[in-house]
Amino acid sequence: MDYLFESVKENVYVLAIWDSTWNSYNNCYFIVQEDGITLIDSSKEMHSAFLVQALQQLGKSPEDVKLVLATHGHEDHVQGTSIFKNAKKYIHHLERSFIEYQEPDEFNFDLLNHGVIQQFEYVWVGNHTPGSLAFYLKPSKVLFTGDFLCFFGDPLSKDGLVSAGNDLRHEWLEFLRNGGVAKETLNGFLNGLIAMNAFDAEFMCTGHGGVLVGDIKSFISELLTVGNKLQDEQVIK
Ligand SMILES: [Zn+2]
Ligand SMILES: [Zn+2]
Repeated sequence: MDYLFESVKENVYVLAIWDSTWNSYNNCYFIVQEDGITLIDSSKEMHSAFLVQALQQLGKSPEDVKLVLATHGHEDHVQGTSIFKNAKKYIHHLERSFIEYQEPDEFNFDLLNHGVIQQFEYVWVGNHTPGSLAFYLKPSKVLFTGDFLCFFGDPLSKDGLVSAGNDLRHEWLEFLRNGGVAKETLNGFLNGLIAMNAFDAEFMCTGHGGVLVGDIKSFISELLTVGNKLQDEQVIK
């Protein structure tokens, strides 16, 4: 199995590409709108044939992709964009200095700490990289978290790629509880969670692995509860 391509919600699709060199799924998202397709993250250059195949399944081609949004500048989120010649490409300004892309000038480094681009709201979450962003598609209540919160290297939920993913949520909470987020970065992580929880999300689309459906605000709130408790313990010590 090279990839899974599934519907998340009407007009929103996930492409989860199996990356055997990293033992992880790398996720990309297609949002199909009347005026063209938006792609959020794009995997590595060597995976672009899978992007083309996914577009074919939608009856589309790379020319139909009009907007590319990158959650951050790591190779597995930007390199696949090289095949989209008709697209405007956007990323946070702080990613300019280290974007892992051969033609950085194809990107607009215009995104600030929050704003709106076409139908997408975005907010700076940082932490994973200096300019990591989360995007929110309000009409569909879909939140795209990039690698700020993802399931890198994890198996998919037993319920499938797009599912409630209660097993994945449980594991993330345990990971956090057991110190998976370093002390020095915990405060920034919690601030990113607070920023994301301002959106009323019902779907969480991450940079790697499972896509979560339902109760996203309560999942983020649970993470905040665990994280705040850890922080209080640190202060007491
Ligand atoms: Zn990354
Ligand atoms: Zn990644």
